[in-house]
Amino acid sequence: MRLFTEYNAAIHRAIEMQRQYLTGLKSGQADAPRVEEVESANEAQKAARDAYLKHINEHGCGVAT
Ligand SMILES: [Zn+2]
Repeated sequence: MRLFTEYNAAIHRAIEMQRQYLTGLKSGQADAPRVEEVESANEAQKAARDAYLKHINEHGCGVAT
């Protein structure tokens, strides 16, 4: 299911963004993501989740893929 795939991808982007952010804090890397970018990845993840859940609630198609 497309929305599930997008939600999954958004989760991974948010996790990766957070990881790079924390690594950047420790090492003082100048090109590490800013906290705003981490927040925006988190927002994108929530939006993808909401779209996925809304779709499932609206016509009850399977959770499995
Ligand atoms: Zn559906």
